[in-house]
Amino acid sequence: MKRRSRRKRHNFVVPIIVLIFCCIFTAMVAYGWSARKKNVKVADASKDTTETTVEVNNSETSSEGEISAVSESETSQSAEETTAAPESNPGPDEKVVYFTFDDGPWTGTPRLLDILDQYNIKACFFVTAQYMDTEPLINMLKQIKDRGHNVAVHSLTHNYKKIYASVDAFMADYDAMDDLIFKATGEHSKMLRFPGGSNASYNKAIRPQLLQAVRDRGIVYFDWNSFDGDVEGKKGQELIDQTIKQVNENTHSILLMHDMPSTAFVHDALPTIIERLKADGYKFELLNENTPPRQFAK
Ligand SMILES: [Zn+2]
Repeated sequence: MKRRSRRKRHNFVVPIIVLIFCCIFTAMVAYGWSARKKNVKVADASKDTTETTVEVNNSETSSEGEISAVSESETSQSAEETTAAPESNPGPDEKVVYFTFDDGPWTGTPRLLDILDQYNIKACFFVTAQYMDTEPLINMLKQIKDRGHNVAVHSLTHNYKKIYASVDAFMADYDAMDDLIFKATGEHSKMLRFPGGSNASYNKAIRPQLLQAVRDRGIVYFDWNSFDGDVEGKKGQELIDQTIKQVNENTHSILLMHDMPSTAFVHDALPTIIERLKADGYKFELLNENTPPRQFAK
């Protein structure tokens, strides 16, 4: 019995040892295989990386070409946008009015700014240095800009004889006003309204050279296609009626008004003008250098 049971036990021990060896062997083989596989994977991966690097290099090379092509097309696109149809421009059937105020600023300008603020309307101010000393003028120009309006050159002196004496005289006057604008806003103006308009009789002798000189400087000049009649003696109801009538003659209306001591009555008429134009379906947009300009003389 004793021997039998020992043999019996022995019979158990051998298969167990074999089984353990099998397990260890299997585990080792499995580990070795997976380790080899890992190595292969790593090798593959490094191969991939090399290929990828090559691809990246290739694509970098090609994308460089593309980048220059893209930037070229972007350049031509933005050039197109500048001359053709910038985003901010309204559609052809959209009723839009651009408020423009010439000849200011003066001490009464803040009242005009308050009225515009009340209706959330932004305007373009074609400014002069006629009515304020340098320091308060710079502060006022800054205030106009800070309240969201555009500040552009009209003329430093607004003296027709002086500014239209020669192209150089005009540009010197322009630069002097633009310097003040730069001091106030940190930006140079690229917009101009000629005193008397681009076809003013005063500039007849030098007109072609003058317009060319302005264009060569990259300055856009704006005339107008509607006018409130303020400097022609229109006041009150008569001024309101002329404004509404003239704006309504254009889908896109560049409205000329003045902001100076002798036309302070424009401020009184403005709320009614705004309400009526709103009722007529007009939107109020800010004239900027990309707005298609109205130009009497080209
Ligand atoms: Zn003027």
